[in-house]
Amino acid sequence: MDIRSMKSLTTIRLIVQWCFLFWVVGIGIRFGLFINSVENGAAAPLVSRPPGVEGFLPIGALTSLKYWLVTGKIHPVHPAALVIFLAILLMSLLAKKSFCSWLCPVGTLSEGAYKLGQRLFGRNYRLWRWFDLGLRGIKYLLLLMFVKLILLDMPAEALSSFLNGPYWAVSDVKMLHFFTHMSVTTVVVLAILVFLSFFYKMFWCRYFCPYGALLGLASLVSPFKIRRDSIGCTGCQRCSAACPSELAVHAGSAVSSPECTGCLTCVACCPEQNVLAMQPAFWRKQPLPVWVFPTLVVFVFISGIAAGMVSGHWDTSLRYADYQKLIPLLPYLSH
Ligand code: SF4
Ligand code: SF4
Repeated sequence: MDIRSMKSLTTIRLIVQWCFLFWVVGIGIRFGLFINSVENGAAAPLVSRPPGVEGFLPIGALTSLKYWLVTGKIHPVHPAALVIFLAILLMSLLAKKSFCSWLCPVGTLSEGAYKLGQRLFGRNYRLWRWFDLGLRGIKYLLLLMFVKLILLDMPAEALSSFLNGPYWAVSDVKMLHFFTHMSVTTVVVLAILVFLSFFYKMFWCRYFCPYGALLGLASLVSPFKIRRDSIGCTGCQRCSAACPSELAVHAGSAVSSPECTGCLTCVACCPEQNVLAMQPAFWRKQPLPVWVFPTLVVFVFISGIAAGMVSGHWDTSLRYADYQKLIPLLPYLSH
Protein backbone atom coordinates (compact mmCIF):
# COMPACT_ATOMS: atom_id res chain seq x y z
CA MET A 1 0.00 0.00 0.00
CA ASP A 2 1.40 3.40 -0.93
CA ILE A 3 1.91 6.06 1.71
CA ARG A 4 -1.09 8.17 0.61
CA SER A 5 -3.45 5.20 0.87
CA MET A 6 -1.99 4.28 4.28
CA LYS A 7 -2.60 7.78 5.58
CA SER A 8 -6.10 7.96 4.14
CA LEU A 9 -7.03 4.60 5.69
CA THR A 10 -5.90 5.72 9.13
CA THR A 11 -7.61 9.09 8.70
CA ILE A 12 -10.89 7.58 7.49
CA ARG A 13 -11.10 5.36 10.56
CA LEU A 14 -10.22 8.17 12.95
CA ILE A 15 -12.92 10.39 11.43
CA VAL A 16 -15.56 7.62 11.60
CA GLN A 17 -14.64 6.72 15.19
CA TRP A 18 -14.61 10.26 16.55
CA CYS A 19 -17.74 11.36 14.68
CA PHE A 20 -19.57 8.38 16.15
CA LEU A 21 -18.20 9.09 19.63
CA PHE A 22 -19.41 12.72 19.48
CA TRP A 23 -22.78 11.54 18.19
CA VAL A 24 -23.10 9.14 21.13
CA VAL A 25 -22.09 11.87 23.59
CA GLY A 26 -24.74 14.10 21.99
CA ILE A 27 -27.33 11.36 22.52
CA GLY A 28 -26.26 11.03 26.16
CA ILE A 29 -26.56 14.81 26.75
CA ARG A 30 -29.96 14.94 25.06
CA PHE A 31 -31.26 12.02 27.10
CA GLY A 32 -29.87 13.66 30.25
CA LEU A 33 -31.83 16.84 29.44
CA PHE A 34 -34.97 14.79 28.83
CA ILE A 35 -34.67 13.03 32.19
CA ASN A 36 -33.82 16.34 33.86
CA SER A 37 -37.17 17.69 32.69
CA VAL A 38 -38.94 14.76 34.38
CA GLU A 39 -36.90 15.04 37.57
CA ASN A 40 -37.50 18.81 37.79
CA GLY A 41 -41.25 18.31 37.44
CA ALA A 42 -41.54 20.08 34.07
CA ALA A 43 -44.92 19.65 32.40
CA ALA A 44 -43.25 18.94 29.06
CA PRO A 45 -39.69 17.84 28.16
CA LEU A 46 -37.11 20.40 27.05
CA VAL A 47 -36.02 18.02 24.27
CA SER A 48 -37.47 14.78 22.94
CA ARG A 49 -36.03 11.45 24.07
CA PRO A 50 -33.36 10.12 21.62
CA PRO A 51 -34.11 6.42 20.89
CA GLY A 52 -30.41 5.81 20.15
CA VAL A 53 -29.79 5.80 23.90
CA GLU A 54 -31.05 2.19 23.86
CA GLY A 55 -27.73 1.20 22.28
CA PHE A 56 -26.48 1.20 25.88
CA LEU A 57 -28.81 -1.67 26.80
CA PRO A 58 -27.20 -4.75 25.21
CA ILE A 59 -28.34 -7.21 27.90
CA GLY A 60 -31.94 -6.04 27.57
CA ALA A 61 -31.49 -6.31 23.80
CA LEU A 62 -30.55 -9.97 24.24
CA THR A 63 -33.80 -10.47 26.19
CA SER A 64 -35.69 -8.66 23.42
CA LEU A 65 -33.99 -10.90 20.86
CA LYS A 66 -35.25 -14.02 22.62
CA TYR A 67 -38.73 -12.50 22.92
CA TRP A 68 -38.67 -11.79 19.17
CA LEU A 69 -37.50 -15.33 18.39
CA VAL A 70 -40.14 -16.89 20.66
CA THR A 71 -43.14 -14.69 19.78
CA GLY A 72 -42.23 -13.29 16.34
CA LYS A 73 -42.90 -9.76 17.70
CA ILE A 74 -40.54 -6.93 18.56
CA HIS A 75 -41.32 -5.71 22.05
CA PRO A 76 -42.42 -2.03 21.85
CA VAL A 77 -40.91 -0.65 25.06
CA HIS A 78 -37.29 -0.31 23.86
CA PRO A 79 -37.34 -1.50 20.24
CA ALA A 80 -34.25 0.50 19.24
CA ALA A 81 -32.16 -1.62 21.64
CA LEU A 82 -32.90 -4.70 19.51
CA VAL A 83 -32.54 -2.83 16.20
CA ILE A 84 -29.09 -1.50 17.16
CA PHE A 85 -28.07 -4.94 18.49
CA LEU A 86 -29.11 -6.65 15.23
CA ALA A 87 -27.39 -3.99 13.07
CA ILE A 88 -24.13 -4.52 14.98
CA LEU A 89 -24.48 -8.31 14.77
CA LEU A 90 -24.99 -8.04 11.01
CA MET A 91 -21.85 -5.90 10.75
CA SER A 92 -19.89 -8.72 12.40
CA LEU A 93 -21.41 -11.42 10.20
CA LEU A 94 -20.34 -9.48 7.09
CA ALA A 95 -17.35 -7.37 8.05
CA LYS A 96 -15.48 -8.91 11.00
CA LYS A 97 -15.76 -7.41 14.48
CA SER A 98 -15.74 -3.99 12.82
CA PHE A 99 -18.12 -2.37 15.31
CA CYS A 100 -15.33 -2.58 17.92
CA SER A 101 -12.71 -0.73 15.91
CA TRP A 102 -14.85 1.60 13.79
CA LEU A 103 -17.81 2.67 15.93
CA CYS A 104 -17.75 1.54 19.56
CA PRO A 105 -17.04 4.55 21.81
CA VAL A 106 -15.32 2.33 24.38
CA GLY A 107 -13.07 0.96 21.62
CA THR A 108 -12.25 4.50 20.48
CA LEU A 109 -11.35 5.61 24.01
CA SER A 110 -9.34 2.41 24.69
CA GLU A 111 -7.40 2.99 21.48
CA GLY A 112 -6.79 6.62 22.43
CA ALA A 113 -5.56 5.49 25.87
CA TYR A 114 -2.99 2.96 24.64
CA LYS A 115 -1.72 5.34 21.95
CA LEU A 116 -1.31 8.05 24.59
CA GLY A 117 0.46 5.48 26.78
CA GLN A 118 2.79 4.72 23.86
CA ARG A 119 3.67 8.42 23.57
CA LEU A 120 4.10 8.97 27.30
CA PHE A 121 6.05 5.82 28.15
CA GLY A 122 7.59 5.04 24.76
CA ARG A 123 5.89 1.65 24.50
CA ASN A 124 2.97 -0.58 25.46
CA TYR A 125 3.43 -3.75 27.46
CA ARG A 126 2.47 -7.36 26.75
CA LEU A 127 1.35 -9.86 29.35
CA TRP A 128 2.88 -13.35 29.53
CA ARG A 129 1.36 -15.46 26.75
CA TRP A 130 -0.39 -17.91 29.11
CA PHE A 131 -1.77 -15.10 31.23
CA ASP A 132 -2.96 -13.18 28.16
CA LEU A 133 -4.77 -16.27 26.82
CA GLY A 134 -6.40 -16.91 30.21
CA LEU A 135 -7.60 -13.31 30.48
CA ARG A 136 -8.98 -13.35 26.92
CA GLY A 137 -11.16 -16.28 28.01
CA ILE A 138 -12.93 -14.12 30.63
CA LYS A 139 -15.06 -12.28 28.07
CA TYR A 140 -16.21 -15.59 26.55
CA LEU A 141 -17.16 -16.88 30.02
CA LEU A 142 -19.18 -13.71 30.68
CA LEU A 143 -20.88 -14.15 27.30
CA LEU A 144 -21.64 -17.78 28.09
CA MET A 145 -23.24 -16.71 31.36
CA PHE A 146 -25.54 -14.19 29.63
CA VAL A 147 -26.42 -16.62 26.84
CA LYS A 148 -27.27 -19.35 29.36
CA LEU A 149 -29.26 -17.09 31.71
CA ILE A 150 -31.18 -15.26 28.98
CA LEU A 151 -31.21 -17.12 25.68
CA LEU A 152 -31.29 -20.67 27.06
CA ASP A 153 -32.84 -20.68 30.53
CA MET A 154 -35.32 -17.77 30.56
CA PRO A 155 -38.85 -19.10 30.01
CA ALA A 156 -41.33 -17.22 27.79
CA GLU A 157 -43.44 -16.01 30.76
CA ALA A 158 -40.38 -14.60 32.51
CA LEU A 159 -39.41 -12.79 29.30
CA SER A 160 -42.80 -11.13 29.04
CA SER A 161 -42.97 -10.14 32.65
CA PHE A 162 -39.46 -8.63 32.47
CA LEU A 163 -40.09 -6.71 29.23
CA ASN A 164 -43.54 -5.49 30.38
CA GLY A 165 -42.27 -4.59 33.84
CA PRO A 166 -41.11 -1.23 35.22
CA TYR A 167 -37.44 -2.25 35.52
CA TRP A 168 -37.01 -2.64 31.75
CA ALA A 169 -39.02 0.54 31.15
CA VAL A 170 -36.56 2.65 33.15
CA SER A 171 -33.40 0.68 32.37
CA ASP A 172 -32.27 3.60 30.17
CA VAL A 173 -32.58 5.94 33.17
CA LYS A 174 -30.70 3.44 35.35
CA MET A 175 -27.94 3.38 32.74
CA LEU A 176 -27.78 7.19 32.74
CA HIS A 177 -27.54 7.20 36.53
CA PHE A 178 -24.76 4.61 36.32
CA PHE A 179 -22.67 7.33 34.63
CA THR A 180 -24.01 10.40 36.46
CA HIS A 181 -24.28 8.96 40.00
CA MET A 182 -21.26 6.64 40.16
CA SER A 183 -20.72 4.60 43.30
CA VAL A 184 -17.24 4.47 44.87
CA THR A 185 -16.86 0.88 43.62
CA THR A 186 -17.69 1.93 40.04
CA VAL A 187 -15.20 4.82 40.18
CA VAL A 188 -12.45 2.56 41.53
CA VAL A 189 -13.07 -0.19 38.95
CA LEU A 190 -13.20 2.34 36.09
CA ALA A 191 -10.04 4.05 37.33
CA ILE A 192 -8.19 0.70 37.38
CA LEU A 193 -9.40 -0.15 33.86
CA VAL A 194 -8.41 3.28 32.54
CA PHE A 195 -5.01 3.09 34.22
CA LEU A 196 -4.26 -0.34 32.73
CA SER A 197 -5.52 0.81 29.31
CA PHE A 198 -2.55 3.18 29.05
CA PHE A 199 -0.12 0.27 29.37
CA TYR A 200 -1.90 -2.61 27.63
CA LYS A 201 -3.56 -2.36 24.22
CA MET A 202 -7.37 -2.47 24.30
CA PHE A 203 -7.36 -3.78 27.88
CA TRP A 204 -11.13 -3.82 28.45
CA CYS A 205 -12.01 -4.93 24.91
CA ARG A 206 -9.57 -7.84 24.66
CA TYR A 207 -10.20 -9.27 28.12
CA PHE A 208 -13.59 -8.33 29.54
CA CYS A 209 -16.16 -7.20 26.97
CA PRO A 210 -18.80 -9.93 26.48
CA TYR A 211 -20.38 -7.91 23.66
CA GLY A 212 -17.06 -8.02 21.79
CA ALA A 213 -16.86 -11.78 22.48
CA LEU A 214 -20.26 -12.29 20.84
CA LEU A 215 -19.31 -10.15 17.85
CA GLY A 216 -16.01 -12.01 17.52
CA LEU A 217 -17.77 -15.38 17.36
CA ALA A 218 -20.26 -14.00 14.80
CA SER A 219 -17.32 -12.63 12.76
CA LEU A 220 -16.01 -16.15 12.17
CA VAL A 221 -18.44 -16.45 9.23
CA SER A 222 -17.49 -13.07 7.75
CA PRO A 223 -16.28 -13.44 4.14
CA PHE A 224 -13.93 -10.48 4.71
CA LYS A 225 -10.61 -11.35 6.30
CA ILE A 226 -7.13 -9.90 6.39
CA ARG A 227 -5.28 -11.81 3.65
CA ARG A 228 -1.50 -11.91 3.21
CA ASP A 229 0.40 -12.54 0.01
CA SER A 230 3.23 -14.71 1.34
CA ILE A 231 5.30 -14.22 -1.84
CA GLY A 232 5.51 -10.43 -1.51
CA CYS A 233 5.84 -10.50 2.30
CA THR A 234 9.37 -9.85 3.60
CA GLY A 235 8.57 -11.14 7.11
CA CYS A 236 9.34 -7.79 8.75
CA GLN A 237 6.49 -8.40 11.26
CA ARG A 238 5.47 -4.73 11.42
CA CYS A 239 1.87 -5.86 10.98
CA SER A 240 1.94 -8.10 14.05
CA ALA A 241 3.77 -5.51 16.14
CA ALA A 242 1.13 -2.89 15.32
CA CYS A 243 -1.97 -5.11 15.70
CA PRO A 244 -4.08 -3.83 18.64
CA SER A 245 -5.34 -7.39 19.20
CA GLU A 246 -1.75 -8.71 19.28
CA LEU A 247 -2.37 -11.23 16.50
CA ALA A 248 0.44 -12.89 14.54
CA VAL A 249 -0.63 -11.39 11.21
CA HIS A 250 2.69 -12.28 9.54
CA ALA A 251 2.36 -15.96 10.37
CA GLY A 252 -0.50 -17.12 8.13
CA SER A 253 -2.11 -16.51 4.77
CA ALA A 254 -5.28 -15.10 6.43
CA VAL A 255 -6.35 -13.86 9.87
CA SER A 256 -9.29 -16.00 10.95
CA SER A 257 -9.19 -15.17 14.67
CA PRO A 258 -12.40 -13.96 16.38
CA GLU A 259 -10.14 -11.36 18.01
CA CYS A 260 -9.55 -9.50 14.72
CA THR A 261 -11.54 -6.26 14.80
CA GLY A 262 -11.02 -5.33 11.16
CA CYS A 263 -9.23 -2.13 12.21
CA LEU A 264 -6.90 -2.36 9.18
CA THR A 265 -3.94 -1.14 11.26
CA CYS A 266 -1.87 -4.04 9.92
CA VAL A 267 -2.75 -3.09 6.34
CA ALA A 268 -1.81 0.53 6.95
CA CYS A 269 1.51 -0.50 8.55
CA CYS A 270 2.69 -2.94 5.90
CA PRO A 271 5.52 -1.32 3.90
CA GLU A 272 5.07 -3.64 0.91
CA GLN A 273 2.65 -2.83 -1.89
CA ASN A 274 -0.50 -5.01 -2.03
CA VAL A 275 0.76 -7.67 0.41
CA LEU A 276 -1.93 -7.26 3.06
CA ALA A 277 -5.57 -6.57 2.24
CA MET A 278 -8.98 -6.93 3.81
CA GLN A 279 -11.00 -8.83 1.25
CA PRO A 280 -13.38 -11.71 0.75
CA ALA A 281 -11.97 -15.06 -0.41
CA PHE A 282 -13.82 -14.87 -3.72
CA TRP A 283 -12.04 -11.61 -4.70
CA ARG A 284 -8.77 -12.68 -6.27
CA LYS A 285 -8.15 -9.83 -8.69
CA GLN A 286 -6.58 -6.49 -7.74
CA PRO A 287 -6.79 -5.51 -4.04
CA LEU A 288 -10.06 -3.72 -3.29
CA PRO A 289 -9.77 0.09 -3.02
CA VAL A 290 -9.20 1.27 0.58
CA TRP A 291 -12.63 2.86 0.85
CA VAL A 292 -14.58 -0.38 0.22
CA PHE A 293 -14.36 -1.92 3.70
CA PRO A 294 -15.07 1.34 5.63
CA THR A 295 -18.01 2.02 3.33
CA LEU A 296 -19.40 -1.47 3.92
CA VAL A 297 -19.05 -1.07 7.70
CA VAL A 298 -20.84 2.28 7.84
CA PHE A 299 -23.42 1.28 5.22
CA VAL A 300 -24.47 -1.91 7.09
CA PHE A 301 -24.86 -0.02 10.37
CA ILE A 302 -26.85 2.87 8.88
CA SER A 303 -29.02 0.49 6.82
CA GLY A 304 -29.83 -1.56 9.92
CA ILE A 305 -30.91 1.54 11.84
CA ALA A 306 -32.88 2.85 8.84
CA ALA A 307 -34.66 -0.52 8.50
CA GLY A 308 -35.72 -0.27 12.16
CA MET A 309 -37.00 3.28 11.70
CA VAL A 310 -38.86 2.61 8.47
CA SER A 311 -40.51 -0.54 9.84
CA GLY A 312 -41.76 1.39 12.91
CA HIS A 313 -39.46 -0.35 15.43
CA TRP A 314 -37.47 2.61 16.65
CA ASP A 315 -39.48 4.88 18.99
CA THR A 316 -40.47 3.61 22.40
CA SER A 317 -44.12 3.09 23.26
CA LEU A 318 -43.47 4.94 26.55
CA ARG A 319 -44.72 8.52 26.83
CA TYR A 320 -43.39 11.42 28.86
CA ALA A 321 -46.16 10.76 31.39
CA ASP A 322 -44.89 7.17 31.83
CA TYR A 323 -41.44 8.48 32.74
CA GLN A 324 -43.07 10.94 35.16
CA LYS A 325 -44.80 8.02 36.89
CA LEU A 326 -41.86 5.61 36.83
CA ILE A 327 -38.86 7.75 37.76
CA PRO A 328 -40.00 8.31 41.40
CA LEU A 329 -40.07 4.50 41.72
CA LEU A 330 -36.41 4.11 40.67
CA PRO A 331 -35.01 3.51 44.18
CA TYR A 332 -37.43 0.61 44.64
CA LEU A 333 -36.67 -1.10 41.30
CA SER A 334 -33.82 -3.53 41.74
CA HIS A 335 -34.62 -6.21 39.15
S1 SF4 B 1 -5.22 -8.42 12.26
FE1 SF4 B 1 -5.14 -6.37 11.33
S2 SF4 B 1 -7.32 -5.80 11.12
FE2 SF4 B 1 -7.25 -7.53 12.55
S3 SF4 B 1 -7.14 -6.57 14.59
FE3 SF4 B 1 -5.01 -6.95 13.93
S4 SF4 B 1 -4.38 -5.03 12.97
FE4 SF4 B 1 -6.63 -4.97 13.09
S1 SF4 C 1 4.11 -5.90 7.51
FE1 SF4 C 1 3.73 -6.71 5.43
S2 SF4 C 1 5.76 -7.37 4.75
FE2 SF4 C 1 5.92 -7.12 6.95
S3 SF4 C 1 5.44 -9.19 7.81
FE3 SF4 C 1 3.50 -8.06 7.73
S4 SF4 C 1 2.61 -8.63 5.77
FE4 SF4 C 1 4.80 -9.18 5.65
